[in-house]
Amino acid sequence: MERIRYPFPKELLEVHTRIVQAGYQCYVVGGAVRSILLNKNPTDWDLATDATPEELFPLFKTVIPTGIKHGTVTILYKGQKFETTTFRIEGPYSDARHPDHVHYTRDLQEDLKRRDFTINAMAIEPREKLLIDPYGGQEDVKRCLIRALGDPKERFQEDALRILRAVRFSVQLRFTIEEQTKQAMRVLAPTLSNVSFERLRDEMEKIMASETPSIGFNLMTETGILPILFPELEVCRGVEQKGSHAFDVFTHSILCCDAAPKHNPTVRWAALLHDIGKPIVKTMTPEGDIVFHRHEQTSAQLASNILRRFRFPVAFEKRVTHLILHHMFHYEDSWTDAAVRRFVRKVGKEHLEDLFTLREADGWATAGKRQDPRTLTRFRERIASVLAQSAPLSLKELAVNGNDLSEVGIPTGPAMGTVLQFLLESVLEDPSMNEKETLLKLAKNFYQERLKI
Ligand code: ATP
Ligand code: MG
Repeated sequence: MERIRYPFPKELLEVHTRIVQAGYQCYVVGGAVRSILLNKNPTDWDLATDATPEELFPLFKTVIPTGIKHGTVTILYKGQKFETTTFRIEGPYSDARHPDHVHYTRDLQEDLKRRDFTINAMAIEPREKLLIDPYGGQEDVKRCLIRALGDPKERFQEDALRILRAVRFSVQLRFTIEEQTKQAMRVLAPTLSNVSFERLRDEMEKIMASETPSIGFNLMTETGILPILFPELEVCRGVEQKGSHAFDVFTHSILCCDAAPKHNPTVRWAALLHDIGKPIVKTMTPEGDIVFHRHEQTSAQLASNILRRFRFPVAFEKRVTHLILHHMFHYEDSWTDAAVRRFVRKVGKEHLEDLFTLREADGWATAGKRQDPRTLTRFRERIASVLAQSAPLSLKELAVNGNDLSEVGIPTGPAMGTVLQFLLESVLEDPSMNEKETLLKLAKNFYQERLKI
């Protein structure tokens, strides 16, 4: 057994000591072990113990049953979280989804044996700083290899999610997938359709938050995962574009995703999916040009389907599709202030920053280099100056409301909505009209001339 050098945090050692003094074993496992071997600082701590959750509860003030079905609890200790899982052996599987039962064991070796990859099947005893590595995980870390533990096909048949986890680790760590493991992924990729979308989403979120998600999407293509999880992206492969575009729709999409900031999942997903409707709307003009008429609408619709399928929260899906729907703006300096105000009103102030970030990423991914930022910069400045005038941009900011309109004889109901919309458009055109008397007069005229039957 090898001794490692790492200054474990005091809190971790205290948690460890408390578990050990109660008569149980306790080891650091998972991502933290990989990080330490890669000379990186772990961001979170997974612990493995032979104490059952019931045996852990009395040892600490706060033990949250975060994954009690799988024997996982989260110990909160001095403001730190320790995800702690009882040693397990894999139960029988009825399908490629979930272990049917949790079988606890008191044997660390047994527990390591049920893990997915060699690099994930190591443990560290943090007091003695001993590395327990029965399957050559350290060697594979050194060689930057993802290798299934034992027979890869069996591992993936037990739990198909591991196929996507291999991609995730490969992307996150920039490791290569060992050939037999990759071969088994190819054969069993279709079984990913048996895995719950919630579990798939957790892995996808990690791929999307990595430095270069395109590596993951290329791997998914190579292993046949893409048509199973993202058939809409699969059909973008080979769809040529003309003009300044250097890439087909698929490559453009994944490069756009890379170019979006990794800490902004909204923009990253919007970047990945912003052109996904192109294959459907693609047409050829009589002159032989390729056009994608109103592709942003089809893309937004497909993106919505995809995000719902992966059970993303509705609010997230709405933000992403909103960006996609509005990504095709064409600002010119000749735009009037009123046109700028209408744009801000349409997109919504709170989405402007994300929309510009998406647009910059889109620019990068068009020809593979940063596009001239001057037009976008001038547009930003125009928007800033329009916002600084604090002209009204929404119904809330009008100098009249529904009550005022009722008082001058406009009935509540659809007509009222139409009148308010008309007033807002007038004020967007000319903010000086946002004055109660003026708007009431305007409203009465509009109603009488255009709406009253
Ligand atoms: P991260 O840094 O993203 O947390 P991790 O390796 O710690 O990476 P987790 O999903 O937290 O990944 O899981 C912790 C450990 O549990 C893994 O290292 C692995 O040993 C084991 N594990 C998790 N999911 C599976 C699975 N589906 N099949 C087998 N082992 C798994
Ligand atoms: Mg972890």
